[in-house]
Amino acid sequence: MLAVLTGASTAGAAGAASATATGPPSAYAPHAAGEAPAGPEPPGYRVDKGDTLYSIARRMGVPLQRLYEANRSVIGADPNLLRPGQFLVVPEPGWVAPVSAEYEISARYGIPGDGWIAGYHTGVDLAVPTGTPVYSVGPGEVHSTSTEGDYGNHLLVRMADGRYVLYAHLDRTDVAAGDRVEGGTRIGDSGNTGNSTGPHLHFEVRTGTDYGTDIDPVEYLAEHGIIL
Ligand SMILES: [Zn+2]
Repeated sequence: MLAVLTGASTAGAAGAASATATGPPSAYAPHAAGEAPAGPEPPGYRVDKGDTLYSIARRMGVPLQRLYEANRSVIGADPNLLRPGQFLVVPEPGWVAPVSAEYEISARYGIPGDGWIAGYHTGVDLAVPTGTPVYSVGPGEVHSTSTEGDYGNHLLVRMADGRYVLYAHLDRTDVAAGDRVEGGTRIGDSGNTGNSTGPHLHFEVRTGTDYGTDIDPVEYLAEHGIIL
């Protein structure tokens, strides 16, 4: 989708390559300046001169409010103030953030700490007041719910793509094992249950059902155009 952005640098890269082409092409050639970095990019759009949030929303087929909410951290408080060059993510249809309320990330994924059995934080913590609605981030089926252990009131959703998403320290849950959920289905309210030092949602993504199979939850959401 962003291939058009790298077009301008192709000529430069080719020129640089021919100037040093004394052997076979190297897989380790440095990126030309301005070229998109390697690796998966979230679906998105680079703001151009004259763009408005409304024109972008219409072009990408996303509701204006959704586009704004997904990019609030980039755009800021005023949705009318876009700057050329800003990269906006375009939310994948059927996917949402786990909370729509304002939050602060109180503990990032992967930070080391003795307080966690794994030795590091296996999810990302979103600090929100107890009672904040929590939504399934995408389509799936509730695998299990529990009120026990360090995670307190928690539930695990098996996503349609085979990943498992854990929502922990909830105040209450609105779903039961076997329930089908979609992105935006309210699955419970955030809370402060279990081993928790303050009201927050612990959001974790796993490749299986077991503790220790976690993957980067922020990256997982970004692949679906949801930026925490
Ligand atoms: Zn946590």
